[in-house]
Amino acid sequence: MAQTEWLAPRDPDELVAALRRMTGASRIVAGGSDLMLGLHASGFHPDLLIDLSRLDGFAHVRHVDGRVRVGALSTCAQLQDDSVLATHGHGLAQAAARVGSAQIRNVATLGGNVANASPCADLVTALVALDASATVIDGLGRTRERPIADLFAPGGGSALPPGEAIVECSFAQGHADRRSAFAKLGVRSSVAVSRLNAALVVDLDRDGATVRSARLAVGSIASAAFRADAVAAALIGARIDAACPEGFTHGCMRLVDERIPGRPSWAYKRLAVRGLAEDLWGVIGASGTRPVGKDPAPRSNRPQGW
Ligand SMILES: Cc1cc2nc3c(=O)[nH]c(=O)nc-3n(C[C@H](O)[C@H](O)[C@H](O)COP(=O)(O)OP(=O)(O)OC[C@H]3O[C@@H](n4cnc5c(N)ncnc54)[C@H](O)[C@@H]3O)c2cc1C
Repeated sequence: MAQTEWLAPRDPDELVAALRRMTGASRIVAGGSDLMLGLHASGFHPDLLIDLSRLDGFAHVRHVDGRVRVGALSTCAQLQDDSVLATHGHGLAQAAARVGSAQIRNVATLGGNVANASPCADLVTALVALDASATVIDGLGRTRERPIADLFAPGGGSALPPGEAIVECSFAQGHADRRSAFAKLGVRSSVAVSRLNAALVVDLDRDGATVRSARLAVGSIASAAFRADAVAAALIGARIDAACPEGFTHGCMRLVDERIPGRPSWAYKRLAVRGLAEDLWGVIGASGTRPVGKDPAPRSNRPQGW
């Protein structure tokens, strides 16, 4: 059996040197919650494993120049309680809070969730709605910022080439009255599939109650989470203390009709997405900027978990 070399860079220079040595058979590992299962299942032995867990300085959440910057090594446990996200990225904090179990959230990282490129990755859906981009570094030490959507191959999977690592994700801080929310549908007894997830970002008028603009992202019904702003447009002009506009819930149902016609899960998901739309709207109206733990319980009677 081929030997796997293991490198654990501790600073950016060591990371760049390690990335320079990557081949197509090398892998990066952060929390390992996706990668290690994949390696066991496939029996694949990488020639080189780059372990990011000892890297200093990539687990931050801060405001810099009007953007919220989140280090790739931030864990879900950290993000769900982060005070910056509670105000400026509530939907991302909510998504982190809904990942797997407490044990998984303690190791699962933001960078791993993005790089793994699963169609149902919860943090990805929240990031897509926030219009986020990722900062990527290569083996020559060059960094570049790419829209999150560019990291996913058109037919599914990651578009990140070997020898590149995500170091940060960022999104515009937005106006004082920006609110965001995340909702998902899953089966608590199963960790195999996420059924459906969605994230909503709205900017409010000066009255603090009327939607001026809205962005929606939906995951699990395509090869990667995608934006559906035409559906979110049904919210423009709505008051957040009013009932969820029918145009929005119907638009969400139409999305399921268009994306997965004829699939066994179609009938179930087109009903379930209505509940998700109402949950998103409920969070925006009731607690869009409150700490995650104080969110109202989901209104739809649906299974929880991943
Ligand atoms: C029981 C269980 C429950 C789960 N529940 C959920 C859930 O509810 N929602 C959800 O979204 N996910 C869930 N997951 C999936 C997983 O936990 C997340 O995707 C997690 O965020 C992955 O992060 P990680 O640090 O563990 O990634 P790793 O497993 O270390 O890596 C995942 C992939 O990303 C690459 N990678 C990691 N970091 C980087 C980086 N910085 N730059 C470039 N490439 C990188 C690796 O090479 C690998 O291909 C679950 C997994 C398990 C085992």
